[in-house]
Amino acid sequence: MQQMLMGKNALVTGGTAGIGKEIALQFARQGASVAIFGTNEERAIAAVQEMEKVKISENQKFAYFLVDVAHSKNVEETLSKLLADWSRIDILVNNAGITRDNLLMRMSEEDWDLVVDVNLKSVYNTCRVLARPMMKARSGKIINITSVIGLTGNAGQTNYAASKSGMIGFTKSLAKELASRNVCVNCVAPGYIETQMTQELPDSVKEAVLSKIPLARIGQPSDIAHAVLFLASDLANYITGQVLTVDGGMVI
Ligand code: NDP
Repeated sequence: MQQMLMGKNALVTGGTAGIGKEIALQFARQGASVAIFGTNEERAIAAVQEMEKVKISENQKFAYFLVDVAHSKNVEETLSKLLADWSRIDILVNNAGITRDNLLMRMSEEDWDLVVDVNLKSVYNTCRVLARPMMKARSGKIINITSVIGLTGNAGQTNYAASKSGMIGFTKSLAKELASRNVCVNCVAPGYIETQMTQELPDSVKEAVLSKIPLARIGQPSDIAHAVLFLASDLANYITGQVLTVDGGMVI
């Protein structure tokens, strides 16, 4: 299927790498204009160049913004600029995320705050600004990338799990707040996906995870991007407040 997002304007946080970049590319292939947030300029430029290569209409626009999603003031200023330039954002994907794993006994306050701020406060930062124009437009799609860890918990990831469970509660609450204005808010919960985030894990951990995946393969960023595309498209106009788990059957 093509042209599922023709004429739409989308913002993908963390669109410079991994899952977020694949989501941005998938949106570009379907006709959307796409803005990405990240902190690495080299990767941001490369992502925009890749989107230019796969676009299907001359009207599509692509832009990157170097912004730390944890900082509310920076996010607010950047979104004001983007809204002034593009007049509306139809699709918001909150994907930027990090890990700083450690057992609770050894977890510093700094690592707790950083993970919660980048993964969860960021969602507040973007939604607080973009919910109002979406409500006024009586249309919008917000998709938050949580994790199966937010559903199951994981030893060594109290900070990450708390941030990802927090995203789920946030999503369900905002879905209830915005539903009367036809704005849908959902989560996608990836399982184990091959990106830089998971590359750093030791081989023994990777093998242990693989043995728990019924579909017997590690997921690819495109597996997540396809689910996000569905939720961002008109095919999902009657779906809100849900968590779509995309994990090869890991959590059944
Ligand atoms: P990557 O590490 O490959 O990419 C992370 C992205 O987030 C990068 O684009 C990075 O941009 C951006 N980012 C990180 N910190 C900030 C910040 N402070 N401000 C702005 N952008 C930031 O991770 P993945 O692609 O693997 O993960 C994407 C999302 O998917 C995350 O939310 C993650 O928790 C979730 N997820 C991933 C799983 C996996 O197995 N990979 C499993 C479950 C969930 P830059 O480098 O430019 O700063």
